[in-house]
Amino acid sequence: MTSPDTNSTSDPALIHQRAITVDMHADTAQRMVDENVDINGRLPDGHLDAVRAKEGGLDAQFFSIWVEPQLFGVGGAGAMKRADIQIDAVTALAKKHPETWQLATTAADLRKAEEAGKLAALMGLEGGYAIDERIENVERYYRMGVRYMSPAWSVSTSWAGSSGDEVGKTRGLNSFGQQVVREMNRLGMMVDVSHVSDKTFWDIVNTSSKPVIATHSGCRAIADVPRNLTDDMIVALAKTGGVVNVIFYPEHIEPGWSEKKKKVDGEISSLVQRASEEEHGDVAHKKLARDRVRAVEYAKRLPAVTVSRIVDHIDHIVKLVGIDHVGIGSDFDGVQAVPADLKSVADLPNLTKELLRRGYSESDIDKILGGNMLRVLEEVNH
Ligand SMILES: [Zn+2]
Repeated sequence: MTSPDTNSTSDPALIHQRAITVDMHADTAQRMVDENVDINGRLPDGHLDAVRAKEGGLDAQFFSIWVEPQLFGVGGAGAMKRADIQIDAVTALAKKHPETWQLATTAADLRKAEEAGKLAALMGLEGGYAIDERIENVERYYRMGVRYMSPAWSVSTSWAGSSGDEVGKTRGLNSFGQQVVREMNRLGMMVDVSHVSDKTFWDIVNTSSKPVIATHSGCRAIADVPRNLTDDMIVALAKTGGVVNVIFYPEHIEPGWSEKKKKVDGEISSLVQRASEEEHGDVAHKKLARDRVRAVEYAKRLPAVTVSRIVDHIDHIVKLVGIDHVGIGSDFDGVQAVPADLKSVADLPNLTKELLRRGYSESDIDKILGGNMLRVLEEVNH
């Protein structure tokens, strides 16, 4: 006899495999360009490849198309080229390995890929530098497959303030910035508030007619860093119908970690500098050399964090605005530290295990892992 209870399961692995899991943010496209890695096979380093994604039950990855303005410009041909080559790399990945990867731009594409047992590859533009202050470029990137954009990364643009610099403290969206948000709404490109200044956040929420998302952020109530969202912001974002996708990076989830990291950054600055000087490649390779030193030193010198802390942020958001407005955005391959029990995408089931331990039901977990973002994708495409 089968009772309803035996039909449901408390097996974390099974629940995790059944869910559609969507990671809203990973920086792996830069590895494909700068390190020429083929992420179809298992890589010895980094946080994401197809083999570990399958092990971890991932179904869809949003690849961040990140233009680092200090290296490639806050606009202009250099910024556009940097975005374009990353988009080409993601597109080429799906072309080269159609048995594993499928390019996707809609919720329907994503579900189709999942049913076919493939990984869906989607793209988001991190920082609006590549649109080069031209409204027609929003549609250009939409046509290339980009389905979200954050107006600024850690450096403010003329039209949107960042949480990462001085000018961002007083800068929101100007009239061009508002025009960009409306154009994104028109096209069906999601607006991402991760990295923007508080003022820009409120201007976006007040301008956008579609759900607003944070692709990789945490709660300021737990980890008080400017990159994170205040409770008021989370409530306002939820009112748009959007989703806060919780980041895995210790600096943005663990209280006090950011201050400790600043201290360590001071202690290791000469080591980092030396690694950069000894690397004879281009600017991107020099950055890779610096980041390798940082990763080693952070692991030695900074406190370990676990998935439990990620779930603290998820819990906080759920208590504030309910189960329909939370998701995940790892920032894998874009950070120099990860939780001890979430070292790569292969460890994602540990997150589900912790959610179950905290009392979340299977349908709650489905929403957190990807269901909520599928809903937003459907909404913005109408
Ligand atoms: Zn980021």
